[in-house]
Amino acid sequence: MLDYERMLNRLKTSKFRSRFHLTEKDRAYVREKGLETLAEHALAFVRQRLAPAEIPNDGRQTPMRGHPVFLAQHACACCCRDCLRKWYRVPKGVALTEFQQRCIVELLMRWISHEMEKDSPPQATEEAGQTRDKEPKP
Ligand SMILES: [Zn+2]
Repeated sequence: MLDYERMLNRLKTSKFRSRFHLTEKDRAYVREKGLETLAEHALAFVRQRLAPAEIPNDGRQTPMRGHPVFLAQHACACCCRDCLRKWYRVPKGVALTEFQQRCIVELLMRWISHEMEKDSPPQATEEAGQTRDKEPKP
């Protein structure tokens, strides 16, 4: 079982991975859609673009912007099968299991949650005192 928080800390030590952050537009999108919906998007992206054994455009399937999940994928080295192999020793040419897909989504969603927690914009200060549910509901 992958230790997600340890993995996120390891990713932070990479100069390349740690330069990815959500833009204000991404944050607004996450707030609008909610983490549950984002997790569905993440699963759909992983399923279509990462999970198949053969990916014709592997290495170029994850845009650098346009969706918070894309940024999470680059930040978490879950952007293409080469990065998955390098960081997680996931062999190429083999379809990802359902479990592997779920693990990737969990990691991506944790990264997004952390991004949302830090440098909250001023309008969020009012509710900052309240405890909020940060985990996506099952
Ligand atoms: Zn990659």
